[in-house]
Amino acid sequence: MATSSPSLPPHRKVRVDLGPRSYDVLIGRGLIGRLGEILKKYNIYGDLVTIADSDYLRAWAISRNSTEKFGIEQRQMKFTAFQVPNGEAAKTLSVASSLHSELAEMKLPRSAVLLAIGGGVVGDLAGFVAATYLRGIAFVQVPTTLLAMVDSSVGGKTGVNLPEGKNLVGAFHQPKLVVADLDTLKTLPAKEFAAGTAEVIKYGAIKDKALFDRVAEGVKPENKDLDEIIEKCGAIKARIVENDEFETKGARALLNFGHTIGHAIENATGYKTYLHGEAIALGMRAAAWLSVWQAGLPEADALRIEAALAANALPITLKPEVDRAAILAALGNDKKVAADGRNRWVLLKSLGEATSGWELPADLVEKVVNLLYTN
Ligand code: NAD
Repeated sequence: MATSSPSLPPHRKVRVDLGPRSYDVLIGRGLIGRLGEILKKYNIYGDLVTIADSDYLRAWAISRNSTEKFGIEQRQMKFTAFQVPNGEAAKTLSVASSLHSELAEMKLPRSAVLLAIGGGVVGDLAGFVAATYLRGIAFVQVPTTLLAMVDSSVGGKTGVNLPEGKNLVGAFHQPKLVVADLDTLKTLPAKEFAAGTAEVIKYGAIKDKALFDRVAEGVKPENKDLDEIIEKCGAIKARIVENDEFETKGARALLNFGHTIGHAIENATGYKTYLHGEAIALGMRAAAWLSVWQAGLPEADALRIEAALAANALPITLKPEVDRAAILAALGNDKKVAADGRNRWVLLKSLGEATSGWELPADLVEKVVNLLYTN
């Protein structure tokens, strides 16, 4: 439902209900220029420090320490911006540690608020810095990629990568607020937008067939209903996170549909060949066929998933140079492998209905990896 407040542009709102850690996700246009007002409205005060994506700042000609583009008055809050180099390479302990040091040099108190403006990389990194600096300070997520709007900004998973694998160090730390301004997507490269649609398709596939049908023909940044689509994704994620905030009950595992092979592909290609969403698209194609073979998903639905991925400009065939053996090796190395060392897969019984915990024979996994090399 679109809501409006006397001063803010019309926007949609998703509540993430986590008791004392509850927060709102605001989705609309023209919000980022009103951040100062929005923070006040949510009683978020304190020294404000921004960690922002350098590509986003460059695209919008926002210089370090410039506050007016966010509607923040210099005297209203202390404001310092740290730019983070774009891309996965920024999500490391050493970048986090240099940010920790900068905050410490500023003598930033525990009452400070960290503003994360950027995609999932900045959100995960800044969230981790917020979770760990002085044992935890408040932070606000301002996602500027579709992927971050529908997925990474909601749910409180923060973290950085290790050479041994992705997201191996991190913390659960919920934001105080998420402000998703669709206008920011105007400068997002088309390939990055497409990568975000992979997660949108995922939500439809695991929980909401009507959403899947809606996005199956292709989602575009100019779609009039993009705010509603993002709201639906945010609400699905919110309900799952509410049921399993710390990923201890299994409910949150459903969000990993397509991620087991997706992560293995990212790992096998050194995170260089595919964007996260692209790897997940390949992983969803694989998971769809595993679902046909094991969980009773009609073959026609697997074909629809393939068609939806392709319609959203996502890859469904692995480049021939990608090392098949490295993918299979990485599959034994997934963070979500259970203590007994076996992968637990998320499969679909039907479009909109996912189940987790599937153990699959190695030959079937090999068969589906082989399938990814074919059209
Ligand atoms: P990203 O943060 O790397 O952003 C993609 C690219 O777009 C970058 O080059 C960035 O500089 C640029 N960019 C961002 N906003 C822009 C804008 N408005 N205009 C122009 N350029 C812009 O990638 P992403 O896809 O947003 O996030 C991927 C990361 O998210 C991965 O590290 C993944 O592990 C993480 N992730 C986390 C969660 C979670 O629950 N925490 C969930 C999913 C993914």
